Amino acid sequence: MAQVNRQWRLAARPVGLVKETDFEWREEPVPVPGEDQFVVHNLYLSLDPTYRGWMNEAGSYVSSVPIGTVMRGAMIGVVEQSRNARFPEGTLVQGMLGWEDYSLSDGKGLSSLPNDPSVPLTAYWGLFSHIGLTAYYGLLDVGKLKSGETLTVSAAAGAVGSLVGQIGKIKGCRVVGIAGSEAKCKWITDELGFDAAINYKTEPVLDSLKKHCPNGIDVHFENVGGEVLDAVLSLINLRARVVVCGLISQYNATGPVPGPRNFWRIVGKRARIEGFIVLDYYDRAAEAMRELRQWYIEGRLRYRVDVVEGLENAPRAFNRLFDGSNQGKLVVKI
Ligand code: NDP
Repeated sequence: MAQVNRQWRLAARPVGLVKETDFEWREEPVPVPGEDQFVVHNLYLSLDPTYRGWMNEAGSYVSSVPIGTVMRGAMIGVVEQSRNARFPEGTLVQGMLGWEDYSLSDGKGLSSLPNDPSVPLTAYWGLFSHIGLTAYYGLLDVGKLKSGETLTVSAAAGAVGSLVGQIGKIKGCRVVGIAGSEAKCKWITDELGFDAAINYKTEPVLDSLKKHCPNGIDVHFENVGGEVLDAVLSLINLRARVVVCGLISQYNATGPVPGPRNFWRIVGKRARIEGFIVLDYYDRAAEAMRELRQWYIEGRLRYRVDVVEGLENAPRAFNRLFDGSNQGKLVVKI
């Protein structure tokens, strides 16, 4: 075991995009487990847009990360020293730990991963994770997608969005994705089987949606907010469902953000807008994982993981979620 535990601690409340100076790099002794505790040697840190809200004073649906403490993050690691019978040395674990080499845990919030050589470790980020659960329950439980409907999804080539669109195809729907580059649009249509893709940076989104959704929109899976949502609302059908998974275009806002302009459409179309947080579905994880696994084995569900090497690069890498340069689920290999 190394002698030093490298850490990123939150040093300031970021304003706008995070800066490296919002974090402090520390080298601390490796923790020693007390009774019922164990030390996790961290391997892969998941970088998620939602962390931006946790860095704010007000926090979000979970508490804010206190200044001066190790930045919180979802992690996969291996138990290296254990005084806890449930998590013996060598166990692969996944759950909320810190942006550091070694984390001390009593097992709360951690689950052990199966040791299955046929499943690469990165699949536990790209698919068999909160990402898979978000796409699955957001689309099927909140969105109540039915065969034959038209589904649109924003940030469609991202971790969640790419799964949403593929599940939409599995369920027999017309799927139109909205993404921020030609390469992303090509990937979701040519390789993932979306019916159409719209590059919101180069195309007039409303006109393109009209072209690709000739029967209107029944379910919209929103990851972004802003202008795309405005365009979608003007094309929703009677009893449409708008699933608000995230609003990434607003996470770094430094002032008030504009509301949806076409909100009145919700009334006329008797539509439903519903937000959700994946944490509420953890008790139903097994059910979703069974189905996701089956689709994965059958080759009907694919994922992409974008691996950044080195804990030292975590703060810089985090901003790739907001400039769109991540190609799939963003993780840091520690
Ligand atoms: P992604 O892999 O989708 O990465 C984020 C993507 O968002 C970028 O690649 C970029 O794609 C797009 N994006 C970033 N900034 C903007 C902007 N200003 N305007 C338009 N698009 C932008 O991340 P995730 O799959 O991890 O997350 C997707 C969404 O799902 C987020 O909103 C996140 O908060 C939400 N989420 C919600 C959960 C819940 O429980 N409700 C759980 C997990 C995620 P592009 O190049 O196409 O612009």
